[in-house]
Amino acid sequence: MMETVVSGIRSTGKLHLGNYYGAIKNFLKMQDEYNCYFFIADYHSLTTHPMPADLHGNVKQVLVEYLAAGIDPEKATIYVQSDVPEIPELYLFMNMNAYLGELERSTSFKDKVRSQPDNVNAGLLTYPVLMAADIIIHKATKVPVGKDQEQHLEMARTFGNRFNRMYNTEFFPEPYAFSLGQSLIKVPGLDGKGKMGKSEGENNAVYLSDSPEIIRKKVMRAVSDSGPTEENQAKPEAIQNLFDLLKLVSEESTYTHFDDLYNKCQIRYGDLKKQLAEDMIIATAPVRERINDIAADSAYLSKVAALGAEKARESASKTLREVREIIGFRKF
Ligand code: AMP
Repeated sequence: MMETVVSGIRSTGKLHLGNYYGAIKNFLKMQDEYNCYFFIADYHSLTTHPMPADLHGNVKQVLVEYLAAGIDPEKATIYVQSDVPEIPELYLFMNMNAYLGELERSTSFKDKVRSQPDNVNAGLLTYPVLMAADIIIHKATKVPVGKDQEQHLEMARTFGNRFNRMYNTEFFPEPYAFSLGQSLIKVPGLDGKGKMGKSEGENNAVYLSDSPEIIRKKVMRAVSDSGPTEENQAKPEAIQNLFDLLKLVSEESTYTHFDDLYNKCQIRYGDLKKQLAEDMIIATAPVRERINDIAADSAYLSKVAALGAEKARESASKTLREVREIIGFRKF
């Protein structure tokens, strides 16, 4: 039987190169070979309390960019999470055997407690439970994600296995983080530390919808330093990040060229950044050029979302029927 793949992206705004190289590039290759479900995680986005006037626009933005990037609704099921009420129902069941201690130990939860101490809501705490429900509702075994999600996948396995043990069944298969490449990817940001992300400040991320001028401006402002002082010196994080980005978007010979210059202490970061910006512009051009046309086609977007919701609900409601049966719910 064809294996099932599930992956989603939170609708907290525009997609960036981290989403593109960490997730979407894999989606594109997988849609031909697997039974794929790609969704827009709008329930997850509620942890940050978006304004009602912004919510739909954010969902639309991700849908448009999924399609512009080449995800094909004829091959994969593309849907909006909140169109599938079976997901929050499964989330409720899974919450009953997810424990406070393990949820509090999650790295992403601890990061959020540090970064947004005024909004540590229960949705953040149980974020991995909702994510587990998203995945196991289609009985997926492969989840194309970036490296940042590895721990969440481990939790999804824990919750599925716990359900199986509790009810003495082998209902949920184990989902694993998956990359078609050799390993899971972490795309760094432009601010010299950590990953590219939507919550890391405006200048950290390059968005698929950024114009060439904006990309140039952001990359030229990226954090670097005064340059190496010894030959073959190890690269500090900010510089390594620029090289990692180069590796993603540039030709290998370009990477080697700047690496050699670095090792000989002859590098000029201005030149590296100029080249990096131009290569980012080229790498994202095909997506960027389609965004406006797709965004203007409301009829097409409605059709894609309706078809996706129908297909996703078909799979989700089958799982839920069986889960309710296993738990012991019976009709009078
Ligand atoms: P998010 O934007 O947090 O909803 O993430 C959506 C998808 O993009 C997930 O599969 C993440 O693993 C992936 N992703 C987000 N940021 C990065 C990054 N900087 N590097 C690699 N993958 C990422």
